[in-house]
Amino acid sequence: MTSFAFHLDYTDPTSRARLGRFETPHGVVETPIFMPVGTRGTVKGIWPDELREMGAKMILANTYHLALRPGESVVKDLGGLHAFMNWQGPILTDSGGYQVFSLAELRQMDRDRVVFKSHVDGSMFDLTPARAVQIQEDLGADVIMCLDECPPHDAPAEKMQAAVDRTTRWAALCRDAQKRPDQALFGILQGGTDQAMRERSAEGLLPLDFPGYAIGGLSVGEAPADMYSTLDFTVPLLPEHKPRYLMGVGRPIDIIEAVLRGVDMFDCVMPTRNARNATAFTSHGLVKMRNLRYQRDTRPLDANCNCPTCQQFSRGYLRHLFQVEEMLGAQALTVHNLAYYQQVMRDLRAAIKSNSAQEFRLDHLARMTADP
Ligand SMILES: [Zn+2]
Repeated sequence: MTSFAFHLDYTDPTSRARLGRFETPHGVVETPIFMPVGTRGTVKGIWPDELREMGAKMILANTYHLALRPGESVVKDLGGLHAFMNWQGPILTDSGGYQVFSLAELRQMDRDRVVFKSHVDGSMFDLTPARAVQIQEDLGADVIMCLDECPPHDAPAEKMQAAVDRTTRWAALCRDAQKRPDQALFGILQGGTDQAMRERSAEGLLPLDFPGYAIGGLSVGEAPADMYSTLDFTVPLLPEHKPRYLMGVGRPIDIIEAVLRGVDMFDCVMPTRNARNATAFTSHGLVKMRNLRYQRDTRPLDANCNCPTCQQFSRGYLRHLFQVEEMLGAQALTVHNLAYYQQVMRDLRAAIKSNSAQEFRLDHLARMTADP
């Protein structure tokens, strides 16, 4: 039914880390992969060819934002997301559920329908599992997601269970609503940090036989250690020969920890959002670009980075750009942060291949404590 196929190429004998690849109508993707986030049909501040040049293979776009503006029918009439944003590689769209529950003003939630008020102009929208699939079919991404309910990480047990059961029911409705055979529809596990809830979620979703599974409901305010221990018992619940996608995570160390636990796919706004807030991820830890100590610093942001920013600008100049609020500052840091994430993924894939993923993690941790 779908042109999507995942191949598991290698599993590290010293951890659960794996190398894989999947085929989409817009090209092959190697995993583990980090997907830059293009919330409103653009990865903020960066051109598609810059993304390609730094090695980004697949990007994410947000269904909720694009459904509100410009509307999925406009994107469809302009040729679908790939043509609309001139990104010819694979794209994943989320279901919109996370934003409906976090950004919009909820008005009503029935068994299988959410009515909400747009955070943009206050207009009323309603979302059903079938509608979430129809919007994503009009947008036209390669991988689309089931509508899910993501409760707060500290939600009481009965609310957590209701969200798990609703997410399972919605997943079946999404699968039944899917018409396009060229898109891979992934299911999303919920259940917070509770093992019994994650097991319940997997028991409901696995019989639906999705081509890939996402772990939702993490990186929503829980401690990193709780996220890692949740992955310890959640990842083994998932099929071995299907991609596993940890939604919305995270810092480079979180990605490394999750890869060691068997996760294949990631997305996060952190590299782009932090860039706009003058914070750089480097091979020696976080650099807060506005710090006075960089005022006369002639060094590149990261001596180990080959990105255009590190090849062309000093820390002193980058600091100046942020101090006077020039837009090039945010653009330059966006290029660097995304290039750094891609480099981490390349190095991590190479480490898995040479059975040294555990050493890679220790080396990363040791360097993060160094003075940048
Ligand atoms: Zn750089």
